[in-house]
Amino acid sequence: MSNEFNADLHCHSLVSDGTLAPAALARRAHANGVQLWALTDHDELGGIAEARAACADIGLDFVPGVEVSVSVDDQTVHIVGLGVDADHEVLRRELRRMCEGRDARAQRIAESLREHTGVEDAYAGASRLAGNPALISRTHFARHLVERGVCASTSEVFTRFLTPGKPGYVEHAWATLEQALGWIHDAGGVAVLAHPGRYRFDARRERELLAHFRALGGEGIEVATGSHSASDWRKYAQVAREFGLHASRGSDFHCPRESRCDLGRLPALPEGLRPIWELLH
Ligand code: AMP
Ligand code: MN
Ligand code: MN
Ligand code: MN
Repeated sequence: MSNEFNADLHCHSLVSDGTLAPAALARRAHANGVQLWALTDHDELGGIAEARAACADIGLDFVPGVEVSVSVDDQTVHIVGLGVDADHEVLRRELRRMCEGRDARAQRIAESLREHTGVEDAYAGASRLAGNPALISRTHFARHLVERGVCASTSEVFTRFLTPGKPGYVEHAWATLEQALGWIHDAGGVAVLAHPGRYRFDARRERELLAHFRALGGEGIEVATGSHSASDWRKYAQVAREFGLHASRGSDFHCPRESRCDLGRLPALPEGLRPIWELLH
């Protein structure tokens, strides 16, 4: 298999903060020429059965996945687990436990948005937009504030209100890196550091994160993702070589209107890298 192979191993359905149903995503991936596709909802496995059935119908190779939220120092880092057993008891239980904290967090986010935007119904609005009542995310708040006319786009809401240091941002303790890799490995999956170009670590802390991830048995890193520039693509190709990590490719598609990159519409992996799909069977 060459690196031109159209794998798309990262996206979201309405089970987390995407807007399409798992089956609709499978059809969209197939229509866009994807040859190997993973559903990787945030902290949730609830869409896997529907995605798997849709892929069987249309003849698309499917990888069950999940994107686990992790706290590293004062930042949130995302770890994509690929090839996990979606029925694995420990993985399911621990993800459910982690999601229990989301509701109280959502109420605090709504409080601070009320104070800073005057929008009174942010909690009700975000809940209404969430396809899964157990998983209200910042994205649902962003969509609600756009509907209320506070901002023109969801990315503007993030920039003004929902990112660290901004008035509507609420700190939250997610899993540790050790926990996330432990759950993914216990469930038979491989762990991939998602969209490394998005974090705000300085060079030393970034290297510490990569070394820690590697030492815990992390297998891969996203090199081609919807959020990487051409220079990120080059930088993380080099990082993959240096740290002996397999390279992954995933659009991180959420929504036709919002997402920068559609399913399957990503640059190829750089030559000479070992693709993560070599480890998936
Ligand atoms: P949460 O898990 O509730 O913290 O929400 C995280 C999600 O918010 C991410 O998976 C992205 O989909 C979205 N997100 C985070 N930062 C931004 C940003 N700057 N612009 C647009 N979406 C973002
Ligand atoms: Mn998301
Ligand atoms: Mn992510
Ligand atoms: Mn994602």
